[in-house]
Amino acid sequence: MRLAVFDIDGVLADVRHRVHHVDGRRHRDWDAFFAAAVSDPALPEGLQAVSQAAADGLAIAYLTGRPERCRADTESWLARQGLPPAPLRMRPDDDRRPARAFKVEALRDLDQGSPVAYLVDDDAAVVESARSAGFPVIHACWMDGGTDGVDRILYDVQETEGRT
Ligand SMILES: [Mg+2]
Repeated sequence: MRLAVFDIDGVLADVRHRVHHVDGRRHRDWDAFFAAAVSDPALPEGLQAVSQAAADGLAIAYLTGRPERCRADTESWLARQGLPPAPLRMRPDDDRRPARAFKVEALRDLDQGSPVAYLVDDDAAVVESARSAGFPVIHACWMDGGTDGVDRILYDVQETEGRT
């Protein structure tokens, strides 16, 4: 069975309410940023994309740059949204590489077990790297409206700190 792989932040979960925790130039509170994830609103377009993938006969996997220490919170959040139980790949707690490096490696590993049909991700750097590695990617852009600059902030912190 082929796999549809879904990023969480910015694809299924609306992170805009907690970006302020990591938008400071001097102080970035990553613990607060991740702790607030339990309150993320779901993104309807993302939930719909998961339903569509399942209806298309694809197996689901979740692939997130969130650290492993957020696993319990993340699994209960996914269940509360009515999302199907599925394998959840998270960044090891000590892995500070950019999201694109972690995610392409994880995609290659997943692909060994079941061929990856596509990845759905909102991060332009991840999209580009995954495509370069030969994976089809759907670039999720549905969290864009509303708060100017969220994409840029998340992009900056992902690229410079390798933390989300
Ligand atoms: Mg994302």
